Amino acid sequence: MSLVVMKFGGTSVEDPAAIGRTAAIVAGRVALGKQPVVVVSAMAKVTDQLLRAAEAASVGDRTGALAISERLRCRHRDTAAALVKNTANRAALVEVIDEKFDSLDEILRGLAAILELTPRISDLVASYGERISSRIVAAAFCELGLDAAHVDAREVIITDSQFQKAVPQDALIEQRAEVKLRPLTDAGRVPVMGGFIAANEAGVTTTLGRGSDFTGALVGGALSAEAIEIWTDVDGIMSADPRVCPDALRVKVISFEEAAELAYFGAKVLHPATILPAVKKNIPVLVLNSRNAACEGTRITSLAPRCKSPFKSIAVKKKLSIIDVVAGRMLMTHGYMKEIFTVFDKHKCPVDMVSTSEVSVSVTVDSTDKLPAIAADLSRLADVKYEGRKALVCMVGDDIRGQNGIAAQVFTAIRHVNVRMISQGASEINMSFMIDEDDADEAVRSLHAAFFQDPDPAIFDVEARRIP
Ligand code: ADP
Ligand code: MG
Repeated sequence: MSLVVMKFGGTSVEDPAAIGRTAAIVAGRVALGKQPVVVVSAMAKVTDQLLRAAEAASVGDRTGALAISERLRCRHRDTAAALVKNTANRAALVEVIDEKFDSLDEILRGLAAILELTPRISDLVASYGERISSRIVAAAFCELGLDAAHVDAREVIITDSQFQKAVPQDALIEQRAEVKLRPLTDAGRVPVMGGFIAANEAGVTTTLGRGSDFTGALVGGALSAEAIEIWTDVDGIMSADPRVCPDALRVKVISFEEAAELAYFGAKVLHPATILPAVKKNIPVLVLNSRNAACEGTRITSLAPRCKSPFKSIAVKKKLSIIDVVAGRMLMTHGYMKEIFTVFDKHKCPVDMVSTSEVSVSVTVDSTDKLPAIAADLSRLADVKYEGRKALVCMVGDDIRGQNGIAAQVFTAIRHVNVRMISQGASEINMSFMIDEDDADEAVRSLHAAFFQDPDPAIFDVEARRIP
């Protein structure tokens, strides 16, 4: 009995055709004797639109908010109608969709009356995307001959109460998975649940930050799955974002550690936290393309084979700011760093990269509206400047430290770009630097051209490049 968790991203459930492909992929696994547990995201772009509706309502734009909701209702109804031909099943599904949108509209009207959007309500509004998509996908699976059973993710993924970035409670999730999912898979049925959404122990809706990938990994960990499959719209983890760099190559195999660095530093293909539950139980993660299911994708494993090329992939994290804290020379005393980081801690602002000199400390953070407040607090310690529209380029590969002259090659490849900060991670597998956001895409293409001329065929899908 081999259980696989299959997570399908927004593009894999974006319309009836995509959901049809998804069903065929799951049916294919069942035919191979696997027991899938399916986790789906909201249909592409839905979460953003839900949050926009909530924001509009909370500033008094009731009409605008309800109009967004109405458009989403139509899109989901149309998708359901296209997928479920059986009249009774279709009517039942449309009723579920209508009920959900009716209650969403109630919340939006409430927001427009109170004019305040709390993180708790934001999570509740965002949850509708997965709550509805998972219903539609489950119904479509049944229609297409799979014995699917919808499961409300909020009964399985239990978190603390930090809305918008709730922390999963592993032990509780394991218990719930045994009660809510295991009996279904044991009976040969296919559970279908939404990603991203969760609930605290009291049953109040929370979310795990943006990724559904995390749900997939949590479920895979809880059920000790044989593999976790992340189905998306590209052939796997590529040597760079294919939207930026069209000749990016598929990475056939990569280590957990390298994948985690890439995800953390902005490779949108995988949510950083995905890796953790999988690593803990040593469950391989596969990244696969729902539009090209025959492709073998990328396999993420604890030990990746040695790679002859220095780098596996280039990631970029945009929308960053640099904060320079410049103190008089005498101020760089014992305890000074602690004071600086206490400020970031107070504002719950994670720091990406740090670089210091005798008199200054430069820190990079996600651009947030907290920056002025952070700068104000820091200015009690020293002079502070901050600058937005920065991007962090991160080059990941095993044993970068062990290779002479790598830094020279990297900076030669982008000699025309102004580099603001540099760090060669203590992790030995990443080298990153900060540049202007506007230079980022071009820098990635230059670096890719320099380092992926002659890629190791054991690691990269070089065949793809030969096909015109
Ligand atoms: P999903 O909706 O399936 O979760 P995402 O949009 O979150 O999909 O992630 C897939 C996208 O990630 C791809 O379309 C691609 O543009 C982007 N991406 C960024 N970096 C990489 C990379 N190194 N390899 C593959 N895809 C990448
Ligand atoms: Mg994603």
